[in-house]
Amino acid sequence: MIKLKFLPYIFTLISVLPACGQTQTNELKNKTSMNEKINRNPEVEVNKEELKQKLTTEQYNVTQMCSTEPPFKNKYWDNHITGMYSCVVCNSPLFNSDTKFDSGTGWPSFFKPINDKSIIEIKDTAYGMVRTEIQCSKCHAHLGHVFDDGPRPTGLRYCMNSASMNFTQDEKSK
Ligand SMILES: [Zn+2]
Repeated sequence: MIKLKFLPYIFTLISVLPACGQTQTNELKNKTSMNEKINRNPEVEVNKEELKQKLTTEQYNVTQMCSTEPPFKNKYWDNHITGMYSCVVCNSPLFNSDTKFDSGTGWPSFFKPINDKSIIEIKDTAYGMVRTEIQCSKCHAHLGHVFDDGPRPTGLRYCMNSASMNFTQDEKSK
């Protein structure tokens, strides 16, 4: 049993490894076979140059280069306000605050997406680890990973990057 206080360090170690293969051609082979099973053409076309203007460097690196932001030093890991999280690139709704939980990892964590169609899952076998990458289903922005050590009712932990999401506070809770 790994003590919880070490978890952030372990996740940090994992997270410094590139998660998806856009710049890692060696890893692309593994991922391509999985990617072929999903729609290769995103519903929302993204212009990378326009995105660079629109997003911060961190938002661009996370969503387009699959980088991972640091734990505990991001916008939403400790956000407990009622509202909705949407894709920072295309604004598509992703997660509701009522499925957010404190995972102790330092990243915003949810046990369920807003609906089955809001995200896509891609098996990521880079570096001998089997992980499942999560992307926005509309624009294929990289969001984070999902793990099977989450709370009930799903038992899943969607470990997201704050930089890949915008948060909108629920009007009623203002
Ligand atoms: Zn999107």
